[in-house]
Amino acid sequence: MLLMKKEKKNEESEVMESIISLCKRRGFIFQGSEIYGGLAGTWDYGPYGLALKNNIKAIWWKRFVLDRDDMYGMDAAILMNQKTWQASGHVDGFADPLVECKKCKSRFRADQIPLEKEGKLAGFQICPDCGGHLGASRKFNMMFKTTVGAVESEESISYLRPETAQGMFVNFKNIIDSFHPKLPFGMAQIGKAFRNEIAPRDFLFRAREFEQMEIEYFVNPKNWKKSFEDFQKEMHAFIKDVGLDVKKVHELEIPDGERAHYSKRTIDFEYDWPFGRKELYGLAYRTDFDLSAHANLSKVSLEYSDEETKEKFIPHVIEPSFGLDRTVLAILCDAYTEDEMGIDESKEGKKEKRKYLRLAPTIAPVKIAVFPLLRNKSALVEKAREIYKILKKTIPAVKFDDNGNIGKRYRRQDEIGTPFCVTIDFDTIEKNAGVTVRDRDSGKQERVKEDELVKYISEKIYN
Ligand code: ATP
Repeated sequence: MLLMKKEKKNEESEVMESIISLCKRRGFIFQGSEIYGGLAGTWDYGPYGLALKNNIKAIWWKRFVLDRDDMYGMDAAILMNQKTWQASGHVDGFADPLVECKKCKSRFRADQIPLEKEGKLAGFQICPDCGGHLGASRKFNMMFKTTVGAVESEESISYLRPETAQGMFVNFKNIIDSFHPKLPFGMAQIGKAFRNEIAPRDFLFRAREFEQMEIEYFVNPKNWKKSFEDFQKEMHAFIKDVGLDVKKVHELEIPDGERAHYSKRTIDFEYDWPFGRKELYGLAYRTDFDLSAHANLSKVSLEYSDEETKEKFIPHVIEPSFGLDRTVLAILCDAYTEDEMGIDESKEGKKEKRKYLRLAPTIAPVKIAVFPLLRNKSALVEKAREIYKILKKTIPAVKFDDNGNIGKRYRRQDEIGTPFCVTIDFDTIEKNAGVTVRDRDSGKQERVKEDELVKYISEKIYN
């Protein structure tokens, strides 16, 4: 049994290692500050990772902002007046339990280390690195502290925001004054958040700098249930939009006593990661906790006046919160595939497995790659360039590639998840026979007439 568990663990970490290595090899994601040995919990997105991330952001923004009439987009400053974090409870309460190994001094989150079940050390927490005893747990505040301005004093203290939410709460009144929206309405924001996580791990899953896509949806407290349930459905719809495997997503109702201090109801959307089932997104009913706290501390009224009923009250809030980097990671985990369609490059006739990303066409960083069959035949290259230019006019993210032999080009494109490769061969120019379009997943090729190519591929990508 123990052996089986160990084997499974090894398989899981092998999958993660393959994904991390593909991301580096193909320019998706690099370790932060790599040439200096890295900085734990930070990751740098390269061209394809950035394109993937931007595609996810665009899909999110379209569903939750552009397609709705009740949503106001925001991009608030990362640095905020320290009072924001006093009111929100983060200065006093945004802390994880920290335990330190008495022997090797490694630090861990106490709630992630199980108690030893057997033997002499039963009932104690044991260091996963060296097997030493872990000391008593203490609270560790996860906000990054900094100072603003030339003079360092108590007043100049600020923090890198640990969530994007507060940037919206402190602008609630601005949106009311500028746009006079009626309840219910929401504010939406995509941006960086920073948490000094005790144990950053599992690639993008737990980083110290990451991006969130958050909505604060303001409601009359009488109607909070309906909005909560509407967003619950919308979150599932977004998960489908980005092509995630819906079977791997599970809702977890967080019971009383385990929710954040501000929440009356929370559902975690969990995902089956290679390293276990853990949180992907969260949906919380934040009540009027934040607006009331900011109104109290700032002495600015954050009440809403209902013109029809003449009621005056502080709106309640439904908060769907999406981790952007966790979305990227879930997509990569879902898309990473190995199959037997390998290419024989060795003299011994050994086929190497094909490793590739089965990305949905809407989120793939490159949608189409265009190749001349041979790179040293100018007629093929010219024709391929011509077709490349035509495609690029209507479909963004088309790539021209004439580097190496055609097998290598297919493999390179498969690895970055390009759904279609268009090849220009001698029949294209000599017999006017159209081009070949190769499908990434099946490897099958179809001949398509030149003047039907844009329509043919657009339908495949966007339908
Ligand atoms: P966890 O329990 O995993 O620490 P959390 O409950 O503290 O997460 P929230 O405060 O609800 O997370 O943050 C909202 C979302 O932000 C999460 O659902 C997740 O997608 C993302 N997120 C939170 N912390 C991190 C992190 N350290 N790295 C990457 N994404 C994160």
